Amino acid sequence: MERSYEKYFRQNRLPHLWCPGCGNGIAMKAIVQAIEKKGLSQDNTVIVSGIGCSSRASGYMDFDTLHTAHGRAIPFATGIKLANPELNVIVITGDGDCTAIGGNHFIHGCRRNIDLTVVLFNNNIYGMTGGQASPMTPLGKKATTAPYGSIDRTFDAARLAEAAGATYVARSTAYHVQHLTDMIVQGLDNQGFSFIEAMVQCPTAYGRKNKMGSAADMMKDMQESAVMKAAWDKLAADKKEHKFPIGVLYKEDGLDYATAYEAVIETAGGKNK
Ligand code: SF4
Ligand code: MG
Repeated sequence: MERSYEKYFRQNRLPHLWCPGCGNGIAMKAIVQAIEKKGLSQDNTVIVSGIGCSSRASGYMDFDTLHTAHGRAIPFATGIKLANPELNVIVITGDGDCTAIGGNHFIHGCRRNIDLTVVLFNNNIYGMTGGQASPMTPLGKKATTAPYGSIDRTFDAARLAEAAGATYVARSTAYHVQHLTDMIVQGLDNQGFSFIEAMVQCPTAYGRKNKMGSAADMMKDMQESAVMKAAWDKLAADKKEHKFPIGVLYKEDGLDYATAYEAVIETAGGKNK
């Protein structure tokens, strides 16, 4: 079987270190398939990640890659995009990385509408550091820092992105691979801040603590809980419990930051190069 996507991986860095059944590899492959569909060149595409299980992906991907500091992927990516707006810049982050230590960078990236495609691998927990609760751990779910169940209300990162100014917001899951790929393709199409939440299963840190069964059981849960946006909008409120919408959740046109910045450079007297 031809596996055209293999060229996008650094074969000498494989096998990866993720646990058996982890959803991160599925989301990573969806990104490279989106890149392939769009026909983006490896030399013109930059992958920037933060810290955590998901952020290890950049090390496996054969592009110009940057594995940065915890929560700081978006500011690094912003610098890259402003230095060379011709580059396609993709950020890989996790729920802890993006919405806790990186939360402020996240909302200001959205606000500026900088042309990045940010894929948040949401496994609902800090996986790599041992299963602490993240801002996206659902209420009542257990974590090493919440042994009786989390009492912290949960961030909806997609709604946060929309409210902060992102011009493309979508969600999908590791179960819905083709759909997830399509959500990323549409994010790459958008000239502005694109945010895609990819729900991924973490059978080791999250699933085990919450007795969610095998990785396959966790994926089945995603299949049953995810509702396509059009159906979600028609769903009665009492039927929405334990379910979540997937698809394009928000989209608008808006001036992207690099274009606005180019205009400032022109006004100030020409190219700053
Ligand atoms: Fe994946 Fe969880 Fe293992 Fe990290 S701890 S590699 S997120 S299964
Ligand atoms: Mg996480």
